[in-house]
Formats: sequence, structure tokens, C-alpha cells
Amino acid sequence: MKIRFLGAHNTETRDTRLSGLLVDDVLALDAGGLTSSLTLSEQLGLKAVLITHRHYDHVKDLPLLAMNRSLNGTTIDIYCLESTAEAIGGNLLGGSLYPDFLKVNGNGKVTVRLCPVKPYLKFQVEGYSIIPVPVPHSVPAVGYRISGKGGKSFFYSGDTGPGLSACWEKVSTKLLITEVTASNEYSKFCSEKGHLCPCLLKEELVCHLNTRGYIPDVVTVHMNHMLEENIRKELQEIAEELEISISMAFEGKQMLI
Ligand SMILES: [Zn+2]
Ligand SMILES: [Zn+2]
Repeated sequence: MKIRFLGAHNTETRDTRLSGLLVDDVLALDAGGLTSSLTLSEQLGLKAVLITHRHYDHVKDLPLLAMNRSLNGTTIDIYCLESTAEAIGGNLLGGSLYPDFLKVNGNGKVTVRLCPVKPYLKFQVEGYSIIPVPVPHSVPAVGYRISGKGGKSFFYSGDTGPGLSACWEKVSTKLLITEVTASNEYSKFCSEKGHLCPCLLKEELVCHLNTRGYIPDVVTVHMNHMLEENIRKELQEIAEELEISISMAFEGKQMLI
């Protein structure tokens, strides 16, 4: 599987983009940086978008993607929790801000098909086996465990706060792509708002070790750009202490697993 990081930050500037991964050019996870990162032909090549939760930084590009698909007369499937589907259908895609991409158009098709997922209920998209796993955040949220055709897999948590023990009971993976929004001085803020900082991530990794007997490789996303240097130093200390690999993603980073 090829994983391309479209956005690795929690704010957008000329140099930073919002959350989003691309798997093998066909599967997008979160939509903070889709249209701003992908060419038109890459956008038209997408088979599905998986959304972790309703926050704007994860759904921002959905109406713009839908417009390009609408002009091209093709349908895109968006997978998310039912409550997320209600939020993005009602606010972004259902006609209140932009055209209604959910209704049947002149071609007899809808542009966007909202496909609700249920926690822990495995589903298949384009040969990928996908399990939505609830994670603790300020609104209903799921991470996705993605298994590819060759048996490789990873878990993308999306936004999450501390308290992933139930998640580790259900998910085993050698690669964890998770958020680290802020540096350790903001640990109280992170705990309250449902985010991670390096010291909170460490607790979750130790919990993973106790549950599964190992710690996966970690790639972090959703960083606050202004805190990035402190986050980098603090993650480095944890990586050395636990003797594991932790890397920070950046826009355009690619991995083959
Ligand atoms: Zn969020
Ligand atoms: Zn976010």
C-alpha cells in the first residue's frame, strides 16, 4: 500500500494543509486537504472518502470535490458515522451553502452517496477491508483500520484524545497514524478537548504494549504548526525512551507498507 500524506496540520496556511491521507491513489481518509493537494484527474480517480468525524478541518474540501465530480458526472462515495453524515449532509453537501450534491441530477445520478458506517462493523471498498473503531474526541469519531490486498494494514485514528485502551483491544496494527496536536505544556488542554500531545501519546503507546505486547511504528499528523519544534523534541525523547520509531508527517510525505 502506498500512503500519501496530503495534510499534516490542524490549521491551513500557504505552507500547511489540513488532515488527509491518500491510499493507493483511490481511497482518501479525511478531506481537509483533498482538492488543494490533488490534480483534477487525481480527484476523479478517487473511489471513496472515509471521514473520521464532522469537524470542519476534516471535511472542508468535500463540497469542492463534489463540484468537480458533479461537473464530470461521476458519483463519489463518502463513508462516515450516521451522525457525521447528518452533519455534513445538512450543512455542507445538501444545498444550504452550495448545490445539493445529494439529490439525483440530470444524469440520473447523485454526485455524493453518503454511506453510514457502524462501529466495529467491517466493510469492503475496492478490495480494502475496513473496520471503523470509536476513538475519544469532543464529537462522535472513529478511526479506521485499513487492510490492503497484500495483507498489509495500518490504523488511522483521526483526532483522538487519551483513552484508547478499548481501541487496542479491538485493533492490532504494525503502523499507527495518529494525531499529536500540541506540545506537552498543553496536556491539560489536550485531555479536555480530546487531543494528544507527546506525553499523552506515550501513555497510549504503553497501554498498547501492555495490551498487545508490542508498540507499533508511529507517524503523527494534525500538528499545530507553531508548536512543531517543541513537539518534535518531545516525540524524539519518547522514541528514545521506548526504543521505537516515531516520525512526524509533512505535506507530500509518502510511505510504502
Ligand atoms: Zn476534531
Ligand atoms: Zn481536527
